Amino acid sequence: MEKISRIEDIKIIPDIIGEAGLEKDVSVVPGVIDNILSNEDLKIENPFSIHYVVEREKDSEKIRAEVDMKGEIETFCSRCLGPMKYMVVLDLRTDYLPASPEMSEHLEEERISSETGYYRKSIHLGEYIVSELVLSLPMRYICSPDCKGLCPHCGVNLNTESCTCEKAADPRLQKLSALKEKIRR
Ligand SMILES: [Zn+2]
Ligand SMILES: [Zn+2]
Repeated sequence: MEKISRIEDIKIIPDIIGEAGLEKDVSVVPGVIDNILSNEDLKIENPFSIHYVVEREKDSEKIRAEVDMKGEIETFCSRCLGPMKYMVVLDLRTDYLPASPEMSEHLEEERISSETGYYRKSIHLGEYIVSELVLSLPMRYICSPDCKGLCPHCGVNLNTESCTCEKAADPRLQKLSALKEKIRR
């Protein structure tokens, strides 16, 4: 497996895609992913793997790419603050069409959707992978969809402990019970 020091370096020259297409496995060292994420709360311990297949559509200028990316991010749950692992599993598919002359140098910026990009002398597959990776990450990391978080009063982890703090009453219900009291009197 080839090791790369920048994902953006994955570029494919259309002329070298043979009849059978082009297939490759690359390994991305943790530091490279760290640089992309640039977030101190996210730690990468093991290399990420990228597998891609690039094929030219028969009798056409259209080139199709399929990319699988896998990796693991270590971080903390934003609800219970416990350590957790977030699995990155990207399964990407995109077509590349020849760029028209009026398009800029930065062809990834000309992309109209994640499914259709453009190429001239080379296909900038790495740039596409980086932007899809960044877009795939959540705003908040949560260890499990039913994480109960911490008690807002005493701070115990409600996933593993329970506490005797009173549940904050709904102010609307409090008004209603006060009203009922009045009626009863
Ligand atoms: Zn949690
Ligand atoms: Zn409590």
